[in-house]
Amino acid sequence: MRPMSDEATGERAREDESADGPAVPQEGEAGPHAGAGHGEPDKSAKKTEDAPAPSRAEVSNYEIVEHWFGVAAERLELPDDVGAVLRSSYREVQVQVPVRLGDGKVHVFSGYRVQHNGARGPYKGGIRFHPEVDLDEVRALAELMTWKTAIVNLPYGGAKGGVNVDPSKLEKTELQTVSRSFMDKIEKVLGPTRDIPAPDVGTNAQVMAWLMDEYGKLHGHTPACVTGKPIALEGSYGREAATGRGVVQMFQEAAKEIDLEPAEARFVVQGFGNVGSWAARLMQELGATMVGVSDASGAIAAEDGIDAETLAEHMREGGNVADFDGSTGGIDPDDLLAIECDVFIPAALGGMIHKDNAERMNCRMMVEGANSPTTPSADSILNDKGVTIVPDVLANAGGVVVSYFEWVQNLQHFRWDEEQVNERLGKIMRRAFSEVAERAKKNGTPMRPAAYELGIERVVEAASTRGYI
Ligand code: NAD
Repeated sequence: MRPMSDEATGERAREDESADGPAVPQEGEAGPHAGAGHGEPDKSAKKTEDAPAPSRAEVSNYEIVEHWFGVAAERLELPDDVGAVLRSSYREVQVQVPVRLGDGKVHVFSGYRVQHNGARGPYKGGIRFHPEVDLDEVRALAELMTWKTAIVNLPYGGAKGGVNVDPSKLEKTELQTVSRSFMDKIEKVLGPTRDIPAPDVGTNAQVMAWLMDEYGKLHGHTPACVTGKPIALEGSYGREAATGRGVVQMFQEAAKEIDLEPAEARFVVQGFGNVGSWAARLMQELGATMVGVSDASGAIAAEDGIDAETLAEHMREGGNVADFDGSTGGIDPDDLLAIECDVFIPAALGGMIHKDNAERMNCRMMVEGANSPTTPSADSILNDKGVTIVPDVLANAGGVVVSYFEWVQNLQHFRWDEEQVNERLGKIMRRAFSEVAERAKKNGTPMRPAAYELGIERVVEAASTRGYI
């Protein structure tokens, strides 16, 4: 068995009564904006600094992932000792990232890389730059990657990394310095056969290029050491859109189950970043209509639709959702969830759909682009309301699938065209959907517990075959 980190066990969610397995973690009062701003929608355009953020649950990402692991472990009758190995991380690295910024002062950020489980292959997972990044969050996201890569059957383990820096406050040169400094501190635990980072919130292809370049200074040119790179630097065609494309492919599969015609679907996107904007554009290509959208700056809505292409263009030019004028105007971000629609796509941060706002949701289906957007309490409220949920561990796996393709292409020094990438992505995503949906039907459960069961079972099989457990 591989050694376990001392700190890795973490705290289980509070144990309260629950019919379907371990207790649902109880959420504290919702975040600082809870209860505020539920009055008349403000139709005026909002500025980034003033915009209220929608409330977030206090239940942590870690508690959310641990809850679902517990539900699946119980159903699988996993022995406690095996559960203890799978709950904890293999390695947790925390580093100091001191960087001299434009104000002439040295600022010290904290960087993390957590490798959760490597039974099925090298660790794989994104790097997040966000002021709220901490060890608990990175640990949760790393564990989620272990189940996700197993659910879509990729030969990878799970990892995640991050730095608690706000990239929107940095000049480009400062962002480069932070990226390179972080790579210098963690390169020893990375590499194409060990652990391969990719983009996540607050990072992009440019950041991956700097990370690859920094790694190359120490190890020689190694494109397979990170994925999500620019096309000019051996990135894969289709990687940028891959997570959003996978979300839409999962929507298409789930739509069949509820007799929803994609061209007639009305959808809402929470978080118009990489995942959200690609999902929106590809939904629009199917003929669907975006009736509400948000980002960190604010939210907008329009009965007769907001053009996702024009909004994406507006963002590329440095705009944000709140100052986009192609709609009827701004709404309170908390009211985004209440918009009547067929499909709600969370594509921002974790814990944004929680017990205090889930009841207000007015959709038939939710396809989780974000990681852990829904707390267990909210999940059970939505299930009671009859909402079909395609869970994060399946719905947003498109990114890691095409990252896998990029890694394979880099190792072979051979490039596939975009058509090949998209077609292979669809094949893997559709197969995973049908495996999860079939299991859910057989068990009489929603898709989320079925997906976790499938992932955990595959990891247990690999770990025991190797002789780890
Ligand atoms: P991103 O940084 O490109 O986009 C995040 C978006 O969320 C931004 O538009 C930001 O303004 C918005 N946002 C932040 N706070 C918000 C708030 N309070 N309300 C509304 N919007 C808010 O990041 P991304 O890569 O698109 O990732 C989004 C989510 O998808 C994350 O949960 C991430 O972990 C998950 N994910 C990403 C990938 C990927 O390939 N990029 C893969 C799998 C999962």
